[in-house]
Amino acid sequence: MSGDASVDIAALLTELGFDSPEAQALARQALYEAKLSREGKARIDGQKRGRVEALLSSKFLVTCGSEECARTLGDRQLVRAEQATRCAVCHGSANKRAVTEAAKLFAKHGIRRLVVVGGSPGVHGELERLRPAGWELRIIDGTERRTLDLARADIRWADLILIWGSSELDHKVSEHYTREAPKDRLVTATRRGIAGLLEAAVTHLSRRR
Ligand SMILES: [Zn+2]
Repeated sequence: MSGDASVDIAALLTELGFDSPEAQALARQALYEAKLSREGKARIDGQKRGRVEALLSSKFLVTCGSEECARTLGDRQLVRAEQATRCAVCHGSANKRAVTEAAKLFAKHGIRRLVVVGGSPGVHGELERLRPAGWELRIIDGTERRTLDLARADIRWADLILIWGSSELDHKVSEHYTREAPKDRLVTATRRGIAGLLEAAVTHLSRRR
């Protein structure tokens, strides 16, 4: 007797991103080799779930197919999920992918403190939600008055100043930053959205050296 229900193997593998017949075959083979299951079995003890996940994530990386997401592959085998939301890296979000990519480059350049000028409350919330633990954010509302002194303090504090050029942004606010900030720490993004903002930062940093 056991309180741990068995689970359908195909459904479990699908949930883990092995959502095509080829990927299911690969994953099943790995389960057989690790003696977690054997040929002809349709169900698996629910208690083995953790071990199945650990085994598969050590042998395979399930991605949406983007190059950025494949960069963390290491010596694992790449598996392409049919549903991008099952990507183990970005979970199908271009914004998340952009944050992951920027975080690697920021770490390399010792960038932790970001001042973001402009953008809508919606994207501010999303940026706060997606940001890696190592980032400190100071978000400046582009529609509210900001004194030159405060802007200067922001500039001294920041490792990088990101101006969201295409957004709700009063020029009286943005000019404090674009005039005062050193050019090597100043990025102006012309595209909307988090991915657009961070891609501009990545481009800027890749020109630094
Ligand atoms: Zn992805």
